[in-house]
Amino acid sequence: MSLFVPLTTPNGYQYDQPRGLFINNEFVPSSTGQVIEAVDPATALPIATVYAASADDVDKAVQAAYKALRDPSWKQLPGTERGALMARLADLMERDRALLATIDAWDNGKPYQVAYNDDLGEAISTVRYYSGWADKTFGQTISTTHTKFAYTLRQPIGVVGQIIPWNYPLSMALWKLGPALACGNTVVIKAAEQTPLSILVLARLIKEAGFPAGVVNVINGYGREAGAALVQHKLVDKVAFTGSTGTAREIMKMAAGTLKNITLETGGKSPLIVFKDSDLDQAVKWSHFGIMSNQGQICTATSRIFVHQDILDTFLQKFKETLTQTSKIGHQWDETTYQGPQVTRAQYDRILSYIELGKQEGATVVAGGGAFVPASKEHANGYFVQPTVFTNVTDSMRIYREEIFGPVVVIRSFATEEEVIRYANDSEYGLGAAVFTKDIERAHRVAAEIEAGMVWINSSQDCDPRVPFGGVKQSGIGRELGEAGLEAYTQVKAVHVNLGSRL
Ligand code: ADP
Repeated sequence: MSLFVPLTTPNGYQYDQPRGLFINNEFVPSSTGQVIEAVDPATALPIATVYAASADDVDKAVQAAYKALRDPSWKQLPGTERGALMARLADLMERDRALLATIDAWDNGKPYQVAYNDDLGEAISTVRYYSGWADKTFGQTISTTHTKFAYTLRQPIGVVGQIIPWNYPLSMALWKLGPALACGNTVVIKAAEQTPLSILVLARLIKEAGFPAGVVNVINGYGREAGAALVQHKLVDKVAFTGSTGTAREIMKMAAGTLKNITLETGGKSPLIVFKDSDLDQAVKWSHFGIMSNQGQICTATSRIFVHQDILDTFLQKFKETLTQTSKIGHQWDETTYQGPQVTRAQYDRILSYIELGKQEGATVVAGGGAFVPASKEHANGYFVQPTVFTNVTDSMRIYREEIFGPVVVIRSFATEEEVIRYANDSEYGLGAAVFTKDIERAHRVAAEIEAGMVWINSSQDCDPRVPFGGVKQSGIGRELGEAGLEAYTQVKAVHVNLGSRL
């Protein structure tokens, strides 16, 4: 199998898709020859195969990162020049933005316009943002006694293993690469097996930008094999992971073997609260976007909506109208598509089984409720799901408590602020939360009370490279993005200085 395959995308691009493991700035085959097949979720047809790393390959990638960390070409590179390399990478991504968005739309199933505007917009702005931090992370000087003082150095943590999910392939990669590189770490990054293609094209841009060999190593591989080998490797100093809470638990256990530093960004069942005094059209608009965008495959999806009992009927009616007008289901390349296919057959089956479960549990389906079969024959096997709304849910229902990761929402009424805060916090998760009200005091009071890493007031899903992102409870450990994201990639060394030896 060659290391590149010429592909023509459904929207007409021709390009050479790399298929290798990117180690030491070169594409190489896997040692075992094992592969991962990328599939177009809109047609269920294969796109291409790429090499999948074995534990031996992971070792080679880690060794490359270990060596690069100590090489003067990286270790002694001034922060300003590191930042310039990162800014160059952002420029190259901007140059190739349409191709990168095309690959993510093809491989993941999201509408091309969304991949272009949202995913690539976020990926590029994140690397640009962190390029600016590369020469602005300093230590402190601390006065102690008359004859002594100390200073601190903020140094890279070392070799970082980064494990990313499939829902935003490139933006998740840059959320992790940005701060790691700004702080001078070296990286082995593993893409999710469901979306292996775009990261290899990114790898080529990393080389073109001029990063020294071994600073960023990019591998594809299966979680249980390559992912687990990366987490357990003794030369890896830190693991950063985004994915499901179940996998995060396994990673945390494995990382304990060598006491690795970890950042985990995991699942959620985020509440969105609509008080009686809210601007109802805005509340409907954002609550629809908060669960139905990206095919509902968002860790911060506001998947539990709580509406004040006096406005529930009006809210439901408006929500259903918005679904009919906005949530057009279709393939990635149709400009009118709002909702593409789910990423894989496994996710599609899982979502449909939750919808069946909800019906069995006795919840009421007020919209959707099953698979969507497109009229075109070409897409008849695609993984399309109807946006689905359940009401009459109770505390113990699994569809109310568990993360579904699809276009499925539960809507429940409440009477008082106290009651709805109790509902909102009755979850093992604590990622995002949204509050709709015109009462400024209530908005901030509720924002403070909700157990979540992020709260949106009169909005949902806002995300910005400058603002910390992360969860509480079982939604994660640590923060990404913003200045807080730098802390995850530096360690503080204290240097004590004695100026009193002549006294
Ligand atoms: P999902 O269940 O939505 O596919 P996962 O949390 O399993 O999400 O996957 C997210 C990322 O974690 C992927 O890159 C996957 O390969 C990786 N992964 C899965 N299982 C493991 C594991 N046991 N050890 C390390 N990484 C894993």
